[in-house]
Amino acid sequence: MRNMEQWIEKYPKNSVVRKAFVFASGAHKNATRASGDPYITHCTTVARTVHEWRLDEQSVAAAFLHDVVEDTDYTKEDIAKEFGGEIASLVDGLTKLKHFKYGENPDVENLRKLILSFTNDLRVIIIKLSDRYHNMKTLQFLFPEKQHDIAWETMEVYAPIAYRLGMQRLSGELEDFAFPFLYKDEHRWLINSVKERFEERATYAEKIEPIVHKILEEEKIRPISVDSRAKHYYSLYRKLMRNDMDLEKIYDLVALRVIVKTVEECYATLGAIHKYYAPLPGRFKDYISRPKPNGYKSLHTTVFCVDNRITEIQIKTREMHEENELGIAAHWAYEQEKDFAGTRETWTGVKNRRELLWVKQLKNWQKNFTNQKDFLRALKVDFFKERIFVITPMNDVIDLPAGATPIDFAYQIHSEIGNQCVGARINGKIVPLTYELQSGDLVEILTQHGKKPSEDWLRLVKTTLARKYIKSALREKTKKLQKKIGREFLEFKITSLDRPGYLKEIAGVFADLKINITYLQSQTDPRLTFSLITLRCCVIPKSKLNKILVNLKKIQGTNEVSYKYVR
Ligand code: MN
Repeated sequence: MRNMEQWIEKYPKNSVVRKAFVFASGAHKNATRASGDPYITHCTTVARTVHEWRLDEQSVAAAFLHDVVEDTDYTKEDIAKEFGGEIASLVDGLTKLKHFKYGENPDVENLRKLILSFTNDLRVIIIKLSDRYHNMKTLQFLFPEKQHDIAWETMEVYAPIAYRLGMQRLSGELEDFAFPFLYKDEHRWLINSVKERFEERATYAEKIEPIVHKILEEEKIRPISVDSRAKHYYSLYRKLMRNDMDLEKIYDLVALRVIVKTVEECYATLGAIHKYYAPLPGRFKDYISRPKPNGYKSLHTTVFCVDNRITEIQIKTREMHEENELGIAAHWAYEQEKDFAGTRETWTGVKNRRELLWVKQLKNWQKNFTNQKDFLRALKVDFFKERIFVITPMNDVIDLPAGATPIDFAYQIHSEIGNQCVGARINGKIVPLTYELQSGDLVEILTQHGKKPSEDWLRLVKTTLARKYIKSALREKTKKLQKKIGREFLEFKITSLDRPGYLKEIAGVFADLKINITYLQSQTDPRLTFSLITLRCCVIPKSKLNKILVNLKKIQGTNEVSYKYVR
């Protein structure tokens, strides 16, 4: 057995992590990678990354074991026997992902969804991302054909998934690894054109760091750090393509990054910087009050900085920074840290509790769904699809699926606000209820007491919550209507040309709306020029009645339609 890395030793001797390390070392003991390294180095690297992302013990163990079923004689059942069902199912998910084959002209969006639906556990995806990260780092050792395939998959499938999970840095790095394998010439051109400028900007950033420190000191702000970050190459390339390949238009080639302790300090820092350096109009972005759809939070401003040079400055708290880098995993980690605030525990003690919470959260989320299929649908529809963030008059941020309308928003606030909603004001302007909300919209709902939702709303809403409330309000409305009108019914008189099949078409109009006809009589005049049809049904809501009138008139041969309520 190889020497154990220090981080592994921090796990207790009888932990599944240690056990998985020993097991994987044995299983892969005679194998080497294309680079010539012993195979276990790959497993250890993948597991270490998963450990650094603060996933639970089961995930770290599964990371050690992720290639065992695929590459050795051990089966899924062997893993289950040694490590239990949970770890075995994680490993199984990873094995399945590896066997996934692409068709000739794969639809990329579907691929991402398909891959997500392959697994019922987000941890599988996250471990897979760690696996892919290491494979991309060592891609140069493979044959060109294979390099291209893996790079393509990374660029089109895994980098976007990482982005959606909020793992911004990982997504950027995966793209940068894939870039030269997919677009060799473009990559070379970019490196050559920006190398000097990158270096020069980095030197400049170093020079202004202490100046920014000093400015903040004057304002009594003590930042955790002031440093700079260079833009990822592929993301730079994409931005250049949108900007006529003009490097002059890229202000965030190297951005200054200020990390402070609290949200208040973020805004105070922004104020301090704007006091000394004039901001470039229209370039300030408040991703704290309006985070990006993947959860990214930060303040971005572009200022005329030292020597009047245009410079982007990003301001965030340490939590935001870590969340921006780690995405979904960090979110869980922070939830947990809050619980431990002020308590002193040993590293493993805290670690164990964290793991439990991480898993609990995931399971709770999963538990809200009665069956696996619904959960997967929600995973795709509610979680992975683009989200928008809109703002209430009280400055609360409401998270909705893209395409949501003011009605969705209203129900999100309160069921009664939804039911009584008659209109909406977006950024101060009245809009129709069909309006598609955009991220950053300030939404006010106009209500009218006693108002009830209409059936049309069901077509307008995107959230399951709104749908649920509307349906239940509609049911109530029908009940009340029936009560009010007692034994009344509706009688139609229709005059029409007499032609075969006409009656059947009339009956069809009612059947389509699921309305029972209780009485039907047809009288034809002696000269056979027209018929008079009398038809009765129970009392129906106005909206359905209108539909019936329209559809009856549409039928070929219909002359006149009238109706009245009969007791
Ligand atoms: Mn692997």
